Formats: sequence, C-alpha cells, structure tokens
Amino acid sequence: MDVIALANQKGGVGKTTTSATLGAALAQKGKRVLLVDLDQQGNLGISAGIAEPDEIEPTIYNVLATHASTYQGQTRVTLADILLHIDSLGVDLIPANIDLAAVDLELINAMNREYLLRRVLEPIKGKYDYVLLDCPPSLGFMVVNALAAANKVIIPLQAQYLATRGVRQLLRTISVAQQELNPGLKIEGILLTMVAPTTHSKEVVSLTRSKFDGKVPVFDSVIKTSVRVQEAPIGGQSILTYEPKSDVAQAYLKLADEVISNA
Ligand code: ADP
Ligand code: MG
Repeated sequence: MDVIALANQKGGVGKTTTSATLGAALAQKGKRVLLVDLDQQGNLGISAGIAEPDEIEPTIYNVLATHASTYQGQTRVTLADILLHIDSLGVDLIPANIDLAAVDLELINAMNREYLLRRVLEPIKGKYDYVLLDCPPSLGFMVVNALAAANKVIIPLQAQYLATRGVRQLLRTISVAQQELNPGLKIEGILLTMVAPTTHSKEVVSLTRSKFDGKVPVFDSVIKTSVRVQEAPIGGQSILTYEPKSDVAQAYLKLADEVISNA
C-alpha cells in the first residue's frame, strides 16, 4: 500500500483536485483507492458530491481525537466507521469538516501526536493499493501527521512564478519530517498544475524542470488550465467522466501511469 500526501502550504494550487482526479484515475486502472480529507474546509468531500460536509459526524476529527492518548472515553471511532463509497469516482473517502479546525490545540498534550494519523491508518493496510492524503494549505499539525504517515509526497505546483516561491520552505519541512519522523518518506514528484497557454506559464514549467533537475523529480505529465475542471465537481464528478477526451483528463490518466510505474 502506498500512502501519498498531496502537500503544498499554498492554497488553490490543485491539491484537492489532484487528490480526487488522480484517485479516480488510479481506480479506473483497477487500483483500490482511499481518499482522506485532512482539510477542515472539506473540499475533497464537496468535490466528491457531498453537499454539506459540516453536517457529517463522525469524521476524521473523531477518529483522531478518540485515538489520542488524552482520550478518556471507551469507544474509539475507526476509519471503517466513517468510510463513504463514492461511486462517481470509484473510490472510498474519509470526510473532514470544520471540526478539524481545533484538533492541533485539543491534542497538544497527546503523546506521539505526530503519529496519530499513521496509527489510525494501520488497520486498513492491505485493503487499498493507494491512500491519498489531501493536505490543508499549511505546514501545521495535520500536514506533519500526513508527512509522518505517508511514504510518498506529491507537490502540486501552480505554474506561476509567485506560486513557485514557497517550494523551498515546503522542501525544508519535508526534509525535517524525513530526519525527525519518517526516514522512509520520499518525494514522488512535483506536479505542475494550471499550466496556461501563456509564455509566462511555459517559462515556469521549463524553469521548474531545470531548477529541480536531479534534485526533486518533476512529473512528465502537466495539468493544463481548464474551466471544465472547475465545473466537474458540481455533479460530484471528476474531469475523467465529465470530459473524458480533454487534455486534462488524459494528463491525469498519464499521471496515474507514472505513479503506478514508480511503485
Ligand atoms: P487546493 O486544494 O490546493 O487549495 P484546489 O484543487 O481546490 O486547490 O483548486 C483550487 C481551485 O482551482 C478550484 O476552484 C479548482 O476547481 C481550480 N482548479 C484546479 N485545477 C484546475 C485546472 N487544471 N484548471 C482550472 N482550474 C483548476
Ligand atoms: Mg484543498
């Protein structure tokens, strides 16, 4: 089982879209996929057709809180208790919502708090080929948990100069996680997203490739900008079923092949 964190502390770079679409693409290729929403905004659930994530209870928050050393109650909520099957994407999903907002403060005294997510994922080992962790736009508690639980990281990176500026800090955080928490963690690759048909965007793509060449892998597949990608989640779909012939759908399928061949 590969556990892949989709991380970038910048918001709006395509983490959630890539979690849902890469998950659906891996499922189309016959893989068993679990998507885990780690963002209090609940956007992954919304993309999968859940209208009101804030009305769901229990969520990943309850799973984490009831597995912490500080938990006093008797019954723990497990991932199996909160699993949703998403037909339109062909995947299972663990929802999150606004309850996750206070988790870092609530669990501040919990022992081994960085490994909570890793621990709750343990019982589902073997049930899936891929677990995708959709991280929030921060370098906080949930992202540290994701980096401690994952064996791979994918960094979605918007193909704009300003968006590339934060990558250095993210790479430092990943490097600290590798040293302090999870020596088995590898960077699977940077995924260039929202590539526009502009000179600037093309320059950022080639700059990114040359800058990280030999240091951090950059996926061959790049994701172009398309308003269709924004429309697809309205019906709980991914671009793979919404517009299967589009460049973006084809690029996500190619990305899935790259991920499978990196196994
Ligand atoms: P993040 O999870 O990093 O905050 P999202 O995946 O939610 O980013 O994407 C942010 C916004 O950009 C969303 O409105 C999404 O629909 C849109 N988006 C994502 N990928 C593309 C794309 N390839 N083309 C156009 N819009 C996109
Ligand atoms: Mg998101």
